[in-house]
Amino acid sequence: MPDLDTEKRLVKKALEARGQSYSPYSHFRVGAALLTASGNIYTGCNIENASYGAGICAERTAAVKAVSSGDAEFAAIAVAGFPNNAADEERDLAFPCGICRQFLNEFACAGMPVYIARAEDDYYSTTLDDLLPHSFGPNDLIK
Ligand SMILES: [Zn+2]
Repeated sequence: MPDLDTEKRLVKKALEARGQSYSPYSHFRVGAALLTASGNIYTGCNIENASYGAGICAERTAAVKAVSSGDAEFAAIAVAGFPNNAADEERDLAFPCGICRQFLNEFACAGMPVYIARAEDDYYSTTLDDLLPHSFGPNDLIK
């Protein structure tokens, strides 16, 4: 479980990573910051594509960066997503989509925290277990 400073650093990095979002179609910019058990932080943003289905979410962008770096034990993630130029009061919490929940579950530590941010000092804390109850994962296949 990350301490409060680490939690806040993740939220800040997710908001910063949101700035790299490539979202010319939806204008919905998302950033993510993934903490691994080794203490590294990998950031990601959503990357859309003219062939809509080829796009990828911020959470999975961060996850593939971590796993492809040989850092595949996820300790926590922060996600910040809201429309471009949304005023503070117009920002809703943007929870990870179903595909990302499943993707993260493959590499998540038990009780992995998930922080959903609207701003640096305004975020909601939950866990992947709460977002993906009764999940199907590696333990169902690897005995
Ligand atoms: Zn997603």
